[in-house]
Amino acid sequence: MNAILIRTIKTFYRFACIFCCLTGLCFLLSYLKRNEPVILTYHSINDKCSPNIYPDSIVSIRNFEEHLKFLSQKRNVIGLEELVRCLEKREKLSPHTVVITFDDGYYDFFLNAHPVLNKYGAPSTVFLMTRYLDSGEGKWDDKLAFLINTADSSSVQLTIGGKDRVFRTSTKEEKAFSIRELQSRLCGLDEEELLETVNKIEETIGLRQSTLPITTMRRREIALLKADPLVSFGAHTHDHRDLGKTSDELTESEIRTSKEEIEKMTGKKCLFFSYPFGKKKNLNSRVKSILRAEGFSGAVTAIPGTIRLDSDLFELKRIVVTDNTMPEFKCALVGFTLQRP
Ligand SMILES: [Zn+2]
Repeated sequence: MNAILIRTIKTFYRFACIFCCLTGLCFLLSYLKRNEPVILTYHSINDKCSPNIYPDSIVSIRNFEEHLKFLSQKRNVIGLEELVRCLEKREKLSPHTVVITFDDGYYDFFLNAHPVLNKYGAPSTVFLMTRYLDSGEGKWDDKLAFLINTADSSSVQLTIGGKDRVFRTSTKEEKAFSIRELQSRLCGLDEEELLETVNKIEETIGLRQSTLPITTMRRREIALLKADPLVSFGAHTHDHRDLGKTSDELTESEIRTSKEEIEKMTGKKCLFFSYPFGKKKNLNSRVKSILRAEGFSGAVTAIPGTIRLDSDLFELKRIVVTDNTMPEFKCALVGFTLQRP
């Protein structure tokens, strides 16, 4: 899809959401789905379009505060632990239950999201990759976003999978489109080729700064947050690997290392896991059985949908929140989103 088509779809979606809210359709759907809890996924909460974070993952502080205000007034916000405990015991939950989660442990969770969550007394679970706890460096796709967003040239020419391709980088829209394109093309490469290509991009563009800015939370932020009973931490592998492709041995070590590291840091059991990338192709029964054997109580995906009493605890669906205005956010809560399955 090109940048113009994406912009057209987003504009259409925006108007469709306003229509759904004004006509009461959204309210009706929310009533009909009141007994299906929703798990929300946030990533970065930031007012600036941070150059080092994938653009679709950023929600402005203002919109985030609006979301939280609405949730605290109109929804029953509980922690992931409570949701899973109720599902295990087949206990009925209060209507309009919502769980808030954050993937990738961005630094702005500590800086921007946590103060808002505290203000509204909302519990949340943050899924951490443990490889970056000392450096605070972002994962490969964040590094890619940083490189493209800070590129001085109007385009970048690259050879991917043996084919020459040109990625336009003149405007904000072109940069966002190129990041999206590159991410989806690179995602399928094996580890060695992936890192090699990212390094090649780094050489082609040339880093403007000697080091990348702090992107993810480090041990010192986790040490401050662990005292807050409203914040819990889950595992998101050690190095943000696609577990649909890794060997059994690597899958086990990615899962075990992240769990052990988080438990060591927080002094609490790490009971929940979030699959990197989170689509159907990024998880399977083999990974689920490793998670069970390692003592996890459940795992969340990026597969869109609501939760039912018979939901698989190791394949919990979530709604990914982008920088939604209130009509879009209300529609997202009933499952009407642009999130791809
Ligand atoms: Zn992730």
